[in-house]
Amino acid sequence: MNKPLILVVEDDKPIRKLITTTLETQGYKYHTAETGEASILEAVSNQPELMILDLGLPDMDGVDIIKKIRTWSNLPIIVVSARSEDRDKIEALDAGADDYLTKPFSVEELLARLRVSLRRIRYDSDKLLKDASSFVNGNLKIDYAAGCVWIGEEEIHLTPSEYKLLCLLAKNVGKVLTHNYILHEIWGSPTVDVPSLRVFMATLRKKIEKTPAQFKYIQTHIGIGYRMLQVGDDS
Ligand code: CA
Repeated sequence: MNKPLILVVEDDKPIRKLITTTLETQGYKYHTAETGEASILEAVSNQPELMILDLGLPDMDGVDIIKKIRTWSNLPIIVVSARSEDRDKIEALDAGADDYLTKPFSVEELLARLRVSLRRIRYDSDKLLKDASSFVNGNLKIDYAAGCVWIGEEEIHLTPSEYKLLCLLAKNVGKVLTHNYILHEIWGSPTVDVPSLRVFMATLRKKIEKTPAQFKYIQTHIGIGYRMLQVGDDS
Protein backbone atom coordinates (compact mmCIF):
# COMPACT_ATOMS: atom_id res chain seq x y z
CA MET A 1 0.00 0.00 0.00
CA ASN A 2 1.25 3.46 -0.86
CA LYS A 3 2.23 5.61 2.07
CA PRO A 4 -0.05 8.62 2.31
CA LEU A 5 1.02 12.20 1.65
CA ILE A 6 1.02 14.29 4.82
CA LEU A 7 0.99 18.06 4.90
CA VAL A 8 3.00 19.53 7.77
CA VAL A 9 2.05 23.13 8.59
CA GLU A 10 4.43 24.58 11.13
CA ASP A 11 6.39 27.84 11.16
CA ASP A 12 8.77 26.76 13.90
CA LYS A 13 11.77 25.22 12.14
CA PRO A 14 13.00 22.78 14.85
CA ILE A 15 9.50 21.40 15.39
CA ARG A 16 8.89 21.11 11.65
CA LYS A 17 12.17 19.24 11.37
CA LEU A 18 11.22 16.89 14.21
CA ILE A 19 7.90 16.09 12.55
CA THR A 20 9.30 15.60 9.04
CA THR A 21 12.17 13.44 10.32
CA THR A 22 9.66 11.29 12.18
CA LEU A 23 7.57 10.93 9.04
CA GLU A 24 10.63 10.03 7.00
CA THR A 25 11.62 7.23 9.39
CA GLN A 26 8.18 5.66 8.78
CA GLY A 27 8.32 6.12 5.04
CA TYR A 28 5.52 8.69 4.88
CA LYS A 29 5.61 11.23 2.10
CA TYR A 30 5.22 14.83 3.17
CA HIS A 31 4.99 18.42 2.05
CA THR A 32 5.53 21.39 4.31
CA ALA A 33 4.04 24.87 4.65
CA GLU A 34 5.05 27.69 6.97
CA THR A 35 2.06 29.98 6.63
CA GLY A 36 -1.70 29.64 6.61
CA GLU A 37 -1.98 30.84 3.07
CA ALA A 38 0.60 28.33 1.84
CA SER A 39 -1.13 25.55 3.76
CA ILE A 40 -4.45 26.16 2.03
CA LEU A 41 -2.76 26.30 -1.37
CA GLU A 42 -1.01 23.00 -0.62
CA ALA A 43 -4.22 21.38 0.58
CA VAL A 44 -6.03 22.43 -2.59
CA SER A 45 -3.34 21.62 -5.13
CA ASN A 46 -1.76 18.46 -3.71
CA GLN A 47 -4.66 16.91 -1.85
CA PRO A 48 -2.75 15.42 1.07
CA GLU A 49 -4.37 12.57 2.99
CA LEU A 50 -3.72 14.16 6.37
CA MET A 51 -2.71 17.54 7.74
CA ILE A 52 -0.63 18.27 10.83
CA LEU A 53 -1.42 21.86 11.72
CA ASP A 54 0.23 24.27 14.13
CA LEU A 55 -2.39 26.65 15.53
CA GLY A 56 -0.08 29.65 15.89
CA LEU A 57 1.02 30.72 12.41
CA PRO A 58 2.37 34.14 11.39
CA ASP A 59 -0.45 35.08 9.01
CA MET A 60 -3.56 33.19 10.13
CA ASP A 61 -5.04 31.50 13.13
CA GLY A 62 -5.04 27.73 12.74
CA VAL A 63 -8.72 27.55 13.71
CA ASP A 64 -9.60 29.72 10.71
CA ILE A 65 -7.62 27.40 8.46
CA ILE A 66 -9.62 24.42 9.76
CA LYS A 67 -12.89 26.25 9.15
CA LYS A 68 -11.86 27.10 5.58
CA ILE A 69 -10.74 23.56 4.78
CA ARG A 70 -13.88 22.03 6.26
CA THR A 71 -16.02 23.93 3.77
CA TRP A 72 -14.77 21.59 1.03
CA SER A 73 -12.73 18.75 2.53
CA ASN A 74 -12.98 15.93 5.04
CA LEU A 75 -9.16 15.71 5.26
CA PRO A 76 -8.10 14.53 8.75
CA ILE A 77 -6.47 17.38 10.65
CA ILE A 78 -4.30 16.88 13.71
CA VAL A 79 -3.72 20.12 15.52
CA VAL A 80 -0.34 20.72 17.14
CA SER A 81 -0.32 23.50 19.64
CA ALA A 82 1.85 25.03 22.30
CA ARG A 83 -1.26 26.42 23.86
CA SER A 84 -2.03 24.05 26.64
CA GLU A 85 -5.40 25.54 27.47
CA ASP A 86 -8.26 23.21 26.83
CA ARG A 87 -10.37 25.91 25.24
CA ASP A 88 -8.00 26.24 22.28
CA LYS A 89 -8.15 22.52 21.64
CA ILE A 90 -11.91 22.55 22.02
CA GLU A 91 -12.22 25.44 19.59
CA ALA A 92 -10.07 23.58 17.04
CA LEU A 93 -12.03 20.33 17.49
CA ASP A 94 -15.35 22.12 17.16
CA ALA A 95 -14.08 23.77 13.98
CA GLY A 96 -13.53 20.25 12.59
CA ALA A 97 -10.08 19.06 13.69
CA ASP A 98 -9.82 15.31 14.36
CA ASP A 99 -7.30 15.31 17.15
CA TYR A 100 -4.71 17.44 18.94
CA LEU A 101 -1.18 17.18 20.24
CA THR A 102 0.23 19.53 22.85
CA LYS A 103 3.84 20.62 22.47
CA PRO A 104 6.15 19.17 23.54
CA PHE A 105 4.98 15.77 22.30
CA SER A 106 6.84 12.53 21.79
CA VAL A 107 7.53 10.97 18.42
CA GLU A 108 5.60 7.85 19.48
CA GLU A 109 2.61 9.96 20.40
CA LEU A 110 2.66 11.71 17.03
CA LEU A 111 2.84 8.40 15.14
CA ALA A 112 0.04 6.86 17.18
CA ARG A 113 -2.25 9.83 16.51
CA LEU A 114 -1.39 9.68 12.81
CA ARG A 115 -2.40 6.03 12.60
CA VAL A 116 -5.74 6.70 14.31
CA SER A 117 -6.62 9.55 11.96
CA LEU A 118 -5.50 7.72 8.82
CA ARG A 119 -7.65 4.79 9.86
CA ARG A 120 -10.62 7.12 10.17
CA ILE A 121 -10.33 8.19 6.56
CA ARG A 122 -9.91 4.60 5.38
CA TYR A 123 -12.95 3.60 7.38
CA ASP A 124 -14.97 6.39 5.74
CA SER A 125 -14.03 5.26 2.25
CA ASP A 126 -14.67 1.58 3.08
CA LYS A 127 -18.08 2.49 4.39
CA LEU A 128 -18.94 4.15 1.09
CA LEU A 129 -18.24 0.88 -0.67
CA LYS A 130 -19.99 -1.30 1.86
CA ASP A 131 -23.44 -1.44 3.29
CA ALA A 132 -23.89 1.49 5.67
CA SER A 133 -26.84 0.00 7.53
CA SER A 134 -24.59 -1.41 10.20
CA PHE A 135 -21.41 -0.51 12.05
CA VAL A 136 -18.81 -3.09 13.06
CA ASN A 137 -15.81 -2.42 15.28
CA GLY A 138 -14.17 -5.52 16.75
CA ASN A 139 -16.86 -7.29 18.79
CA LEU A 140 -19.15 -4.30 18.71
CA LYS A 141 -21.93 -4.28 16.15
CA ILE A 142 -24.67 -1.71 15.66
CA ASP A 143 -27.57 -2.57 13.38
CA TYR A 144 -28.97 0.84 12.52
CA ALA A 145 -32.12 -0.41 10.83
CA ALA A 146 -33.12 -2.61 13.76
CA GLY A 147 -31.69 -0.24 16.38
CA CYS A 148 -29.85 -3.14 18.01
CA VAL A 149 -26.38 -3.38 19.52
CA TRP A 150 -24.33 -6.52 20.05
CA ILE A 151 -21.08 -7.33 21.76
CA GLY A 152 -20.10 -10.61 20.16
CA GLU A 153 -23.15 -12.86 20.33
CA GLU A 154 -24.78 -10.97 23.14
CA GLU A 155 -27.38 -8.30 22.47
CA ILE A 156 -26.85 -5.21 24.64
CA HIS A 157 -29.86 -3.27 25.84
CA LEU A 158 -29.32 0.46 25.76
CA THR A 159 -31.58 3.35 26.70
CA PRO A 160 -32.49 5.70 23.83
CA SER A 161 -29.92 8.26 25.04
CA GLU A 162 -27.17 5.65 25.37
CA TYR A 163 -27.99 4.35 21.90
CA LYS A 164 -27.82 7.84 20.39
CA LEU A 165 -24.51 8.46 22.14
CA LEU A 166 -23.05 5.23 20.85
CA CYS A 167 -24.22 5.93 17.29
CA LEU A 168 -22.74 9.43 17.38
CA LEU A 169 -19.37 8.09 18.54
CA ALA A 170 -19.50 5.32 15.94
CA LYS A 171 -20.36 7.74 13.15
CA ASN A 172 -17.25 9.73 14.11
CA VAL A 173 -14.98 6.80 14.88
CA GLY A 174 -11.38 7.98 15.26
CA LYS A 175 -12.35 11.57 15.89
CA VAL A 176 -12.29 13.41 19.22
CA LEU A 177 -15.75 14.86 19.93
CA THR A 178 -16.07 17.71 22.42
CA HIS A 179 -18.60 17.70 25.26
CA ASN A 180 -20.42 20.62 23.66
CA TYR A 181 -20.61 18.93 20.29
CA ILE A 182 -22.05 15.76 21.82
CA LEU A 183 -24.57 17.65 23.97
CA HIS A 184 -25.69 19.67 20.99
CA GLU A 185 -25.97 16.67 18.64
CA ILE A 186 -27.81 14.41 21.09
CA TRP A 187 -29.99 16.69 23.14
CA GLY A 188 -29.85 19.91 21.13
CA SER A 189 -30.45 21.87 24.26
CA PRO A 190 -28.49 22.92 27.33
CA THR A 191 -30.78 20.95 29.64
CA VAL A 192 -28.24 18.14 29.76
CA ASP A 193 -24.87 19.35 31.02
CA VAL A 194 -21.38 17.87 31.12
CA PRO A 195 -21.81 16.10 34.50
CA SER A 196 -24.99 14.42 33.19
CA LEU A 197 -23.18 13.45 29.99
CA ARG A 198 -20.52 11.79 32.15
CA VAL A 199 -23.22 9.74 33.84
CA PHE A 200 -24.72 8.62 30.50
CA MET A 201 -21.24 7.76 29.24
CA ALA A 202 -20.46 5.76 32.39
CA THR A 203 -23.59 3.63 32.05
CA LEU A 204 -22.98 3.12 28.31
CA ARG A 205 -19.42 2.01 29.01
CA LYS A 206 -20.52 -0.38 31.72
CA LYS A 207 -22.70 -2.09 29.13
CA ILE A 208 -20.30 -2.25 26.21
CA GLU A 209 -16.96 -2.55 28.00
CA LYS A 210 -17.66 -5.37 30.36
CA THR A 211 -14.32 -7.08 30.60
CA PRO A 212 -11.55 -4.80 31.79
CA ALA A 213 -8.97 -6.76 29.81
CA GLN A 214 -10.75 -6.39 26.48
CA PHE A 215 -10.31 -3.63 23.95
CA LYS A 216 -11.58 -0.24 25.10
CA TYR A 217 -13.94 1.39 22.62
CA ILE A 218 -14.38 4.79 24.20
CA GLN A 219 -11.45 6.97 25.11
CA THR A 220 -11.84 9.86 27.57
CA HIS A 221 -10.17 13.19 26.88
CA ILE A 222 -10.27 14.89 30.25
CA GLY A 223 -11.79 18.35 30.11
CA ILE A 224 -12.41 17.97 26.36
CA GLY A 225 -14.60 15.06 25.33
CA TYR A 226 -14.60 11.47 24.04
CA ARG A 227 -13.51 9.41 21.08
CA MET A 228 -14.37 5.96 19.83
CA LEU A 229 -11.27 4.08 18.76
CA GLN A 230 -11.24 1.42 16.10
CA VAL A 231 -10.01 -2.00 17.07
CA GLY A 232 -6.33 -1.99 16.25
CA ASP A 233 -5.80 1.65 17.16
CA ASP A 234 -2.96 1.94 19.60
CA SER A 235 -2.87 5.44 20.95
CA1 CA B 1 3.88 28.46 15.54
